[in-house]
Amino acid sequence: MPAAAPAVNKPKSAPQRALEKLGLRRDIDLALHLPLRYEDETRLVRIADTRDADLAQVEGRVIDCRVEQRARRQLLVRIADDSDELLLRFLHFYPSHQKTLAVGARVRVRGEVRGGFAGREMVHPTFKAVGEDTPLAAALTPVYPTSAQLPQAYLRKAVGAALARAPLEEVLPAGTLPPGLPPLRDALAFLHHPGPQTSLATLEDRSHPAWQRLKFDELLAQQLSQLQAKRARASLQAPALATRRGGLHEKLLAALPFALTAAQHRVAHEIAADIARRQPMHRLLQGDVGSGKTVVAALAALIAIDAGWQCALMAPTEILAEQHFGKLVGWLEPLGVRVAWLTGGHKGKARKAMLASLADGSAQLVVGTHAVIQDGVAFERLGLAIVDEQHRFGVEQRLALRRKLVDHDHTPSAPAGRVDGASAAPHHDDRSAPLEPHLLMMSATPIPRTLAMTYYADLDVSTIDELPPGRQPIVTRLFVDTRRDDVIARIRDEVARGRQVYWVCPLIEASETLDLQNATDAHAELCAALSGADVGLLHGRMTAADKAAVMARFTRGETAVLVATTVIEVGVDVPNASLMVIEHAERFGLAQLHQLRGRVGRGEVASACVLLYTGPLGATAKARLKAMLETNDGFEIARRDLEIRGPGEFMGARQSGDALLRFADLAEDSTLLQHARALAPVLLAKHPEAAARHVARWLASRAEFMKA
Ligand code: ADP
Ligand code: MG
Repeated sequence: MPAAAPAVNKPKSAPQRALEKLGLRRDIDLALHLPLRYEDETRLVRIADTRDADLAQVEGRVIDCRVEQRARRQLLVRIADDSDELLLRFLHFYPSHQKTLAVGARVRVRGEVRGGFAGREMVHPTFKAVGEDTPLAAALTPVYPTSAQLPQAYLRKAVGAALARAPLEEVLPAGTLPPGLPPLRDALAFLHHPGPQTSLATLEDRSHPAWQRLKFDELLAQQLSQLQAKRARASLQAPALATRRGGLHEKLLAALPFALTAAQHRVAHEIAADIARRQPMHRLLQGDVGSGKTVVAALAALIAIDAGWQCALMAPTEILAEQHFGKLVGWLEPLGVRVAWLTGGHKGKARKAMLASLADGSAQLVVGTHAVIQDGVAFERLGLAIVDEQHRFGVEQRLALRRKLVDHDHTPSAPAGRVDGASAAPHHDDRSAPLEPHLLMMSATPIPRTLAMTYYADLDVSTIDELPPGRQPIVTRLFVDTRRDDVIARIRDEVARGRQVYWVCPLIEASETLDLQNATDAHAELCAALSGADVGLLHGRMTAADKAAVMARFTRGETAVLVATTVIEVGVDVPNASLMVIEHAERFGLAQLHQLRGRVGRGEVASACVLLYTGPLGATAKARLKAMLETNDGFEIARRDLEIRGPGEFMGARQSGDALLRFADLAEDSTLLQHARALAPVLLAKHPEAAARHVARWLASRAEFMKA
């Protein structure tokens, strides 16, 4: 039942709609909507005892009430108790103010005290008329996070009512909670209405046992749902893609101009072992920029293709997809593998032919953007899906991918086609169930351990922890924008030595025009300063074909300098590029800066990254730039990023408007997290009912999001 239950058919009031907008639908949602802070209306202070800047509640009689025209019209009210007098000043007021605050009235007033010119005063205090013995509040008054359409008083009432109705009975069996934590009902009752003696400090730093209880419940719900997802997947079937001796993957290894690093070998084996099983793989391959994930993906694709199955490789941008396509064609076509290319840009006949080649299985590997997972795309027998730069895909796209690949929401013809196809597959003998493809995700932004244990508990992780040999460390330098000329001189040197240079301009949020302006200005400036050199320009407003053409010229070395907005951010690979200049580096996120820096230092050329900034720098920007100067290590960068931003934002949850963890803090609550991790499997095994009820209570509205 909705919280503030509207009568049937009656249109919802504005506050009701505002409640829903905040996701406060069920009683339990309201009960879990905790105060931001509290106001202490449990005691009165004598006027004489208030000090400057105190937030105080006092009571007295009105001895004067007048409207005066000073700098502007204002209502001035003087009250007195037996200790002293206090002036109340209202710059906005209604006739009702004057009525309540009439001379002789007894009023209770709450606000910030200022030692004004004419003695103590409060500007716009809250006030109410009281009698001689009107009781004080028995508990601290909660102040809730809210929106403009939802008055605090309405929300307080709604929460109070919901708290009384919400089913808050204990669902966790006795003895399973960490010691010292109160029952949920008590914890919530307390947090909404703490008693007058409560230490505000333990509420603020969330160390109070009531807070601990909520955090624990939240972490437990999250661990349970991850574990359930993992088990659900374990019951699904995937084709067993066994590695064939002397197969295509060995041929690729023999043909490559380099030997795999030990780390690449290790992760390739982990993946091969996974896909040889009948259970769908759900693995993240993480490795710093330039660590060589693509070739590992290619090896996995070849094993799948050798076993008679199709493979799809998806990248978040057309440019990156196109680069992959070029590279994979170069590696795989000589081995006789048919590689296809699919993006949103394909229309009409070309698209039809493309789709037909997927549907009849003649395309063995398809490379593209998320267009690959769009409706109407059916594979004859998809055995392995690879998602590059997984974290760059939006939450929506990740969900779509998941629905398409994991949740049995395939295009109508797919299951039948698959089963038929499966019967011809040499390694497959279960013809009854539709088969899921294996899923490999790749990311250059490593997941810190705490996050891997929580959000990604449902994921196996392989890590490439070394770079190919011969890479020169990238030297990072910070330049204030007034030293542009020095930077341009440096570019001239690089170009004279036959090297290539990136110049990246920031994306200016909410202004594509400014964004473009920035890039075109920089382009003009560099063209003028580097007469004779070929300077290219790449920005988000260009068509996919134009972008591809500019990128291709740079890749072939025909363009010496490439000015670009952040479209080049992920994955592009031009080993001859030796200098990365990032303009307005203070506007970029840390992960983004590190990704951009990873565009150079990909060959054996000594490389540098110049961070141009415009001051003054805020604390966060300073911390980010400092991290860039101090380390080249992607794991360390990710750790610092988490520190600077906090996990909510790290996960990109901010964009989705929904933080994954509302109460718990992974950095602070590791003891609770450990307990929740240990308890989750026990609960699922011994008390599945309790586990189900706990998850439903906590995650009903966000279960879908949690899976992405
Ligand atoms: P990322 O992990 O960032 O996706 P890539 O797969 O693009 O990295 O690889 C970066 C560059 O290193 C590519 O040019 C790739 O061909 C090359 N490379 C990959 N593995 C090795 C290796 N073992 N030795 C030398 N170069 C390698
Ligand atoms: Mg890559």
